[in-house]
Amino acid sequence: MPHILIVGAGIGGLTTAALLLKQGWRVTVLEASTYPGGCAGTFFHQGYRFDAGATLAGGFDANGPHTRLAEMLELEWRVSPIQDAAWVVHLPDRTIHQWVNPTQWRDEYLKNFPYSESFWHKQEHLAKIAWDISTRDFPFPPANMDEALRLPLAVRLATFSAAPHLLRKFRGLLPQKTDAEFKAFIDAQLIISAQAISDAADALYGATVLDLPRRGVVHVHGGMGGIAETLVQWIRSQGGEVLYRQQVTALDVKDGRVTAAHTNKKLRLEADFFVGNLTPWALEKLLGEAAPVSLQREVKRRDLMWGAFVMYAGLDAGIVNQSITHHQVVMDVNKKLGEGNSVFISLSPLDDPKRAPQGFRTATLSTHTSVTDWDKLHRENPEAYEERKAKYADKLLDAAEHALPGFRKAAKFIMPGTPHTYETFTRRPLGMVGGFPQTSLLRARSPRTGLQNLWLAGDSIFPGQSTAGVTLGAMRVAKLVQNESRRQHVN
Ligand SMILES: Cc1cc2nc3c(=O)[nH]c(=O)nc-3n(C[C@H](O)[C@H](O)[C@H](O)COP(=O)(O)OP(=O)(O)OC[C@H]3O[C@@H](n4cnc5c(N)ncnc54)[C@H](O)[C@@H]3O)c2cc1C
Repeated sequence: MPHILIVGAGIGGLTTAALLLKQGWRVTVLEASTYPGGCAGTFFHQGYRFDAGATLAGGFDANGPHTRLAEMLELEWRVSPIQDAAWVVHLPDRTIHQWVNPTQWRDEYLKNFPYSESFWHKQEHLAKIAWDISTRDFPFPPANMDEALRLPLAVRLATFSAAPHLLRKFRGLLPQKTDAEFKAFIDAQLIISAQAISDAADALYGATVLDLPRRGVVHVHGGMGGIAETLVQWIRSQGGEVLYRQQVTALDVKDGRVTAAHTNKKLRLEADFFVGNLTPWALEKLLGEAAPVSLQREVKRRDLMWGAFVMYAGLDAGIVNQSITHHQVVMDVNKKLGEGNSVFISLSPLDDPKRAPQGFRTATLSTHTSVTDWDKLHRENPEAYEERKAKYADKLLDAAEHALPGFRKAAKFIMPGTPHTYETFTRRPLGMVGGFPQTSLLRARSPRTGLQNLWLAGDSIFPGQSTAGVTLGAMRVAKLVQNESRRQHVN
């Protein structure tokens, strides 16, 4: 039976591991941290369980990635569907509820943006095509000849009506009459799901992610980390290994193949195949001089990913007592999003006793931020770094106060985190998170690494970020590894 070694117990690594285990593989996952999930993990602090990054779980609808994975593995997620509003967008002059129910949602967008109906029809049409493709085998962009031959099989007659939008930007779909409020409303959602605003985001990708509120949004019991924790339990129960506190420090390469991984605890593990649940930058570091030239070039050529400034807060649930748990704030619709001007705020559900001591709840707040300034300040000017951190924390509190009056008073403690914090806890170089901005299908990344028995999984590969997106990517990686092992006669 072939042995696969996976670096990282994020959603991408764990899903790949589980699917290969199901196929009879021997599986070892090495995780640097003491808990799984990475950016979608939940950590424990002073009686609270905080979501580290991801807070909104989508893709649990009938044909959604998480539902399909559960069927494949015959496991059950510990989740409850969100039935009212997936989240509320707070603009300076109005609040817009992202109702889960399509009829309620139509009333809501017509009330707020009466001219937008034909836009939403177009968006829904494109999203339907893309979600439909995602339920089939769709290895894009193909990593080898086998995948290139399978790709056209995913196409149906209806797919062709999306063809004119394949290489267009999302802004081309916006109504001519678009005002600053509507653009900010759309851009705020695109930036969290496509990592780019409408001027840059790919049209088809953007249309797809705008459907998220109506694609099986749930509360994960005990916090977002419950997805990764369920996968770890399942892997272990089926005889797979997940080892914590094992940070992989190097990969040995011989004759174009990875042969072994070394960890900071002096483990050296050999395997037939390897998957890095990593960004290309992190993978290149592990390979050192053995990194293929294509990978070395890629990390020099690629634009950096976004970083996140986050804040974790323990709140008095008697003051911040809203039942809708997710809120998005845009403070000024005429200014650039991110850097504290757009903030995503998630509260733990009032009825989840695992998340906080009695009478309290947790909040995770985040805003997109560029990683380079934080990195420079952290290295060169610790005082200015701390000042900037305090300033950003204040901006996030202002946004929270706007959406949830009383937030400052309710906050018993707050813990801000910068991209440097993410770098420390998720080992993602510079704290780059969220995958590549989805600006063009031509720039989508495949799992290829340039080495015969090593692939990437996680939000760097298409379709990119989110637990649902990363799950889809991992389904594809598992199949790729499986087919390659047959081709190489490793069994
Ligand atoms: C602030 C923020 C908010 C977000 N909000 C949402 C949201 O609401 N909904 C949503 O679906 N998604 C959201 N996302 C995105 C989502 O969290 C990620 O796209 C997804 O979780 C990434 O999964 P991944 O498989 O790429 O692995 P990662 O999360 O990057 O995990 C990789 C794992 O590998 C480990 N690792 C790294 N290097 C090594 C090494 N050398 N040796 C051993 N282990 C190693 C890390 O410790 C980590 O556990 C958010 C992300 C952030 C940062």
